This record gives sequence, C-alpha cells and structure tokens, in this order.
Amino acid sequence: MDQAGEQVRYEAPEEAIARIVLARPERRNAQGVRMTYELDAAFKRAAHDRDVKVIILAADGEDFSAGHDLSYEADASEFAPLGLWGPPDEPGWEGRFARERELYLDITERWRALPKPTIAQVQGRCIAGGNMLAFACDLIVASDDAAFRDNTVDMGVCGAELFNHPFELGVRKAKEWLFTCGWLTAQEALLRGMVNRVASRADLAEVTLDLARTIAKKPMFALRMAKEACNSAQDAMGRVDAQRIAFALHQLCHTDNMLRHGLPITPENLPPKIQEALRERAARAKAKTQSAKGE
Ligand code: ZN
Repeated sequence: MDQAGEQVRYEAPEEAIARIVLARPERRNAQGVRMTYELDAAFKRAAHDRDVKVIILAADGEDFSAGHDLSYEADASEFAPLGLWGPPDEPGWEGRFARERELYLDITERWRALPKPTIAQVQGRCIAGGNMLAFACDLIVASDDAAFRDNTVDMGVCGAELFNHPFELGVRKAKEWLFTCGWLTAQEALLRGMVNRVASRADLAEVTLDLARTIAKKPMFALRMAKEACNSAQDAMGRVDAQRIAFALHQLCHTDNMLRHGLPITPENLPPKIQEALRERAARAKAKTQSAKGE
C-alpha cells in the first residue's frame, strides 16, 4: 500500500508501521512549501489510522535533507494554512512572520506532538532545517556516514526555527555546533544522546524497522502517554520559553538581514545559484509591493 504525494511517499512496510518518505532526492529532499503540507497530510493520515502504531520518517537518495528550500518553488498561498497566522503576503515583516510561524515553527511543533512514536531514519547529510525534521521525531537512527550541520549562522540567522539544539547536545556543544557551522558526525551525535542508534547504510532501513517493530508490540495508549510524559518533561526543563525566545531572536536576525541585504538571510556564503534566486525573488516582491501602492 503505497500512496504518493508529489514529494512525499506513504508506505506501510509491515503491520502497525507507517513509513513516510521524503521523495525529492534530486533536490536532496529540500523542504519547500509543497513538501511541508504533503508531510503534514502524511503524518495526519498515520496519526488517525488505528492500525498504525509507529511512524518512520525516511528519505530517498544520498541525503536525508538539505534543509528548507530557499528557492521557494511553490507559493504558500497555494495551500490552505493549518493555523491562524496570516495572511502570508502582508507587507513589512508581518506576512513573513506569519509564514515562519505556520511553515517552520507551528507545523514542526505539531509533528513533535503527534501522539504516536516517531523515528527519523537519517542517511547522508542533514542540514539546517533538515535537523528540525529529525528533532521533531522521538527517536533518531542514523547511518554511520550521516552528518548533521546547522549553518544558519553563516546565513546571518541564529539557528533553525525549531531551536532544540541545546536540549539535543547540551549547551556547550550546541554553541560550538552553531558558532562553527561545522559537521556533527553520527558517532558524535550518538555520544551526545542526539541519536539513538547508528547502523551501516546497508542496514539502516532494517535497523530502523526492527526498532519500530519492537515498539509496535507495546500497548498503544501507554506509548502515547509515555511520549506525552517525556515531551512534557523536556518542556518543563524550559524548552517552551527557550523556544519562544529563540524564535523571536530568529525573527530579529531575519529583519536585520532585510535592513542590511534586502533579503531575510545573508547571501554571501550561499551557492551563487541560490543567491541569484533569492535576489530575483526579492526584486519580484518589491515590484509587487510597489504596484500595489500604485507607484
Ligand atoms: Zn526563518
């Protein structure tokens, strides 16, 4: 039983287990608007299917995720928002804020709160916003060649929107990771408790499935409550307040970049093709605003 969105595939590899697959390997599974809403639909389907007890989030291709799609290949207005922040095209930072809340923070928090165990199956590179997908899952199984990087500081921003970094790694390592924009290997992530298991790439799917299988034998309601209790413990450690502050600072970084560069992120350290796409998009947005004002 496979069902395809354009960029997300829904699989039922065996009884009681759903596998949601990022299926955009040609773009290293960059998460744009379409993938975000397709992912949400897939998570919702698995959440409401009484035959599903454990959900695996996997990815096609060499890499788990290149992060958020900065080319904005689809417009947010193509999809009905799930939350109440909007509309996304208001001028100033208002529309952008609504979009960041909806697409990056609130939807990812919604997935973190999905009341069934979730396991991220991570191979290859997992970059910036890609880490948010892994963090939103309860457990992470990584291939031994997986590597994690949050290079948002290079983009003039203080960490990806879902700011779980200090809770995943401890504050001191999280600072090093963010300050250097360096790579964290699967082995280091395992040592820090950010990752649960490491397997060879050849065994990754089976090791993940085996973990899911073990969990799927347990009573559903107790699993739901165990998840809720662990998430509540992390929230009681200050996660919710820390997340609110980090998100506000993240927005401050975006507005600072708008003042400095006319773009929400610092472009210099990005590949030339992405820089060009960002500048084109900014010019289109400016022209749209000016024509709306009748200038
Ligand atoms: Zn952002």
